[in-house]
Amino acid sequence: MHTDLVAALDIGGTKIAGALVDGQGRILVRAQRPTPAREDGDTVMRAVEQVLGELTGSPLWGRATAVGIGSAGPVDRSAGTVSPVNVPGWRDYPLVGRVRAAAGDLPVELIGDGVAITAAEHWQGAARGHDNALCMVVSTGVGGGLVLGGRLHAGPTGNAGHIGHISVDLDGDLCPCGSHGCVERIASGPNIARRALENGWRPGPDGDTSAAAVAAAARTGDPVAVASFERAAQALAAGIAATATLVEIDIAVIGGGVGKAGDVLFAPLRKALSAYATLSFVRHLTVAPAQMGTDAGLVGAAAAALARRTDAAAAGV
Ligand SMILES: [Zn+2]
Repeated sequence: MHTDLVAALDIGGTKIAGALVDGQGRILVRAQRPTPAREDGDTVMRAVEQVLGELTGSPLWGRATAVGIGSAGPVDRSAGTVSPVNVPGWRDYPLVGRVRAAAGDLPVELIGDGVAITAAEHWQGAARGHDNALCMVVSTGVGGGLVLGGRLHAGPTGNAGHIGHISVDLDGDLCPCGSHGCVERIASGPNIARRALENGWRPGPDGDTSAAAVAAAARTGDPVAVASFERAAQALAAGIAATATLVEIDIAVIGGGVGKAGDVLFAPLRKALSAYATLSFVRHLTVAPAQMGTDAGLVGAAAAALARRTDAAAAGV
């Protein structure tokens, strides 16, 4: 019997996706449910179990050897619990135990969603071939993850690389996390749009005040829109340069909605990086847009499950 598949779960505030994934990262079976994010914890868990039920009901399930979960955070990998900000019914929720029970006692690996996307970009995307990389998701929030020495570095709790909450403005605005001047408070999509509006940018006739609309305005040369992206780029560059100086990454991959802004973001980002990443060992640092699409969370969760399986085999477990 082939035992070459892993199950993957991608759990976010709006949807719960599941898949059976092979050793090349191909998705063979899919299942999905909306996240009942406003319901109590057990109701949310039932949606996860429905997704898992579709996977365990597949004729391919017998080939699955591990389960990988990428979840909205914070997660606690060592405790096997999750407390996603957008799912209030789950606080220190014992997700790993519940998933293991629903998956026939297969080993379960839990990581944060930013770490999962990093695993996907390293396996199949823009960070492929890079042994030391920072991958970021810049959208409603700012998350990330690290690859160090060729391996995903999830950290003890599974949150390592959460660059969105590094402070880059010591006396900056209060961040919802409780700190001040976080990268996310400056560079997330809603903050790019907020700053543009505060400084006099006005949306077009469609009334769209998203960061994508600000990006479109910046592309036509609107100076306030350009300035808001430049400020976001500066915050990202400061966070990336700090990370590179600490752990010697050679590439930073940027995904998420804001990462799709193209040159409006990447041109000022490269300029700001040259101002902040100044030491000889970080000057070669490059930035690149993410390559993985909407399946990044699933593919990354699968990568984490495969890595766990490989580690277990190496340890003779
Ligand atoms: Zn913060």
